[in-house]
Amino acid sequence: MATLFPELAPSNGHIESQLMPAAALQQALAGGAGAAGAWFIKRDDELPVAGSIKARGGFHEVLAFAESIAIAHGILDAAGDPRVLASAAARALFSQYSVSVGSTGNLGLSIGVMAAALGFEAVVHMSADAKAWKKDRLRKRGVRVVEHEGDYAEAVAAGREQAQAAPRSHFVDDERSAMLFFGYAAAARHLAHQLAQAGRVVDAAHPLFVYLPCGVGGAPGGITYGLKALFGEHVHCFFAEPVASPCVLVQLASGGDAPVSVYDIGLDNRTDADGLAVGQASPLVSPLMASQLAGVFTVPDDQLYVHLLALKTSMSVEVEPSAAAGIGGPSWLSDSPAGQAYVRDNGLDMRAATHVIWATGGSLVPPEELRRFQAHAEALTGQVSGAMQPAA
Ligand SMILES: *Cc1c(COP(=O)(O)O)cnc(C)c1O
Repeated sequence: MATLFPELAPSNGHIESQLMPAAALQQALAGGAGAAGAWFIKRDDELPVAGSIKARGGFHEVLAFAESIAIAHGILDAAGDPRVLASAAARALFSQYSVSVGSTGNLGLSIGVMAAALGFEAVVHMSADAKAWKKDRLRKRGVRVVEHEGDYAEAVAAGREQAQAAPRSHFVDDERSAMLFFGYAAAARHLAHQLAQAGRVVDAAHPLFVYLPCGVGGAPGGITYGLKALFGEHVHCFFAEPVASPCVLVQLASGGDAPVSVYDIGLDNRTDADGLAVGQASPLVSPLMASQLAGVFTVPDDQLYVHLLALKTSMSVEVEPSAAAGIGGPSWLSDSPAGQAYVRDNGLDMRAATHVIWATGGSLVPPEELRRFQAHAEALTGQVSGAMQPAA
């Protein structure tokens, strides 16, 4: 990775983000009573190269694909130096293959940038309403952007169909990919290390709460899977979904494996949180989450903006609306009847709790877009209370 991307030289090629203490945000949002325990923000909004949580899963899948081709063609053996993947010989080989993906934006950025850097033909299928700046950035990196009418699921379906028809092409399937999932899951080990370094114990007397913005479910599901493997019953992961797009909530609440979408219950899947605007949950991830997930809460769009502004005002951290979805988690847990019931039923002692709010994207958002988010939030402040309004 350090060979491919000079900006990764300082971290030796590792793509990781800091765990940032968030006492100022805690003070701003929860004040006194609701503020039991310690709050942190996991800064995946700053993940280098891709600028979002998608770097974790997306880079893993493209590298795994590159590795499998290199091994099949004898330029890399299982014990070999992976830097040959960045060699001229590997590039020449990879240029005969294409890597494609359907995306609302951030997954396309992650897959497109990594695939193009290795020399693949990179194709990103996007819904027509995907943000223009994301399309522009991809095109500048040499990625082919194909626009589709309809929503994200239709872009994915069209991409899958075209890739299956083409020889030597690999389709990154956000709805079913195990390689994406494992890439996300690897975040857990690093978080455990960071918690230990921060002096935060995780055990029966010191529960860990993690609040994860959720789209199709892959990123938050993989992270939950990894954290459960390390911390078992002492970690409690909650997904945060937009009120209009609670696809994992709808799927889990249905109680079965038959696919159910947000449209089926009369919602329109229209939200400014473009990274979370998914109508149908991943059929790979939802069954796994049925036994692992603590719960799902929903967030109105207005609240995303109010919390995005609170984060900027209290901590000078600027994120995109999708990435603000987890910010209401701790207050939801302490103040809503459903959150209180969860704490009570599980006999949790909140005094020594650790709360990790996962910020998932924003550092590549152009400054004028960030200013627009902020202006919208400022216009809303005063109309919307800071307290969570659990809608489900
Ligand atoms: C994709 C994304 C998520 C959620 O990941 P899923 O795998 O779709 O659930 C959260 N936040 C941001 C900014 C994203 O781009």
